[in-house]
Amino acid sequence: MKNKFAERTHLVKPSETREILKITERPEIISFAGGLPAPELFPVEALKVACNAVLNEEGEASLQYSTTEGYIPLREAICQRMKVIGINSTIENVLITSGSQQAIDLTGRLFINEGDTIICESPTYLAAINVFKSYNAKFVEVAMDDEGMVMEELEKKLLEHPNTKFIYTIPDFQNPTGRTLKLERRKRMIELANQYDVLIVEDNPYGAIRFAGEALPPVKHFDTESRVIYISTFSKIFTPGLRLGWICPGERFIDKYVSFKQTADLHTDSFAQRITAKYLELYNIEEHINKIKAVYKERCTAMLSCINEFFPKNINYSMPEGGLFIWIELPESVDSGKLFARCLENNVAFVPGVPFFPNGTKKSTLRLNYSNMPKEKIIEGIKRMGEVLYREIEK
Ligand code: PMP
Repeated sequence: MKNKFAERTHLVKPSETREILKITERPEIISFAGGLPAPELFPVEALKVACNAVLNEEGEASLQYSTTEGYIPLREAICQRMKVIGINSTIENVLITSGSQQAIDLTGRLFINEGDTIICESPTYLAAINVFKSYNAKFVEVAMDDEGMVMEELEKKLLEHPNTKFIYTIPDFQNPTGRTLKLERRKRMIELANQYDVLIVEDNPYGAIRFAGEALPPVKHFDTESRVIYISTFSKIFTPGLRLGWICPGERFIDKYVSFKQTADLHTDSFAQRITAKYLELYNIEEHINKIKAVYKERCTAMLSCINEFFPKNINYSMPEGGLFIWIELPESVDSGKLFARCLENNVAFVPGVPFFPNGTKKSTLRLNYSNMPKEKIIEGIKRMGEVLYREIEK
């Protein structure tokens, strides 16, 4: 049979991280590779209660088809949460999506013409790279420092690339670097977007998981022209398995998002939406999020102090104030892909940095996740990595 696939299918390669994750699922491996929340914190007992209540009180409706926009009480709860962090929205401008990943995909479908430029942080979230690539976007990477995307660089890139459609940013505890965009830069990003007439896609799954420092308003808070498309999720503050995310794109764009969401899957799982809404009604999710923060803070602190103790001194690492990840920059001579193979022989794993750069650079970087391993394993795993690193760096 001749190749029947559409031409665009060649744009998406199998995700390297997925392949890595398969290997690292072996129980003997201490894995800092995934981006998984700590499963022991999932509110299983509370969910049993919420689940039963939904089935008893609204069983039939919860199993029926429902509206594309999403379950109203859940959208109301989302609006309340967003209000607290400085985003004023009505439920009409909130669409429930199947994870925030779907919101990213819909954004690609809605806005990217072949050859459009997307400006992003360098590095950035791998699965967003793959989405935008599948719509044939070109990526222009903007350098980051410890305070997020560098605004002078951003302006330079906006000038050089007049066909930029949007800036894709993860301002809080970015994946993969764990870095946060500082306040003045958030305001500046909005000014630049207004000046150069581009959209901003603010992907913010981690903002609520701040365990140190002062909370910052989202970029959308400073939006004066309805240019910021805000995306978030229940995956990190509740459970990723229910696949509940949302998008708040502003009144100009919401109708198109709803139409395209309808063509994708009609609506997000109504049972999951009602269970989550019931949980939010019966329990205090802030208490739950506080537990997550306390555990991640302990794990992040342990990982940072072990990196300081066991890794060679000629490396750089990020110091996250929240989220799930630490980013490591090794001396340029070290290839983190090769390092990965050596570490795997010692039963410890991470994700090499290359796939996070849309144009495939910076072999000497890697991402560590701390949310998914208990403290003892973090200590042991970083020790093992440190031994390998000393050997590789001295070569
Ligand atoms: N955006 C970013 C930056 C992420 O790190 C993730 C998950 N790792 C997502 C979006 C997608 O999350 P979900 O689909 O579970 O909401």
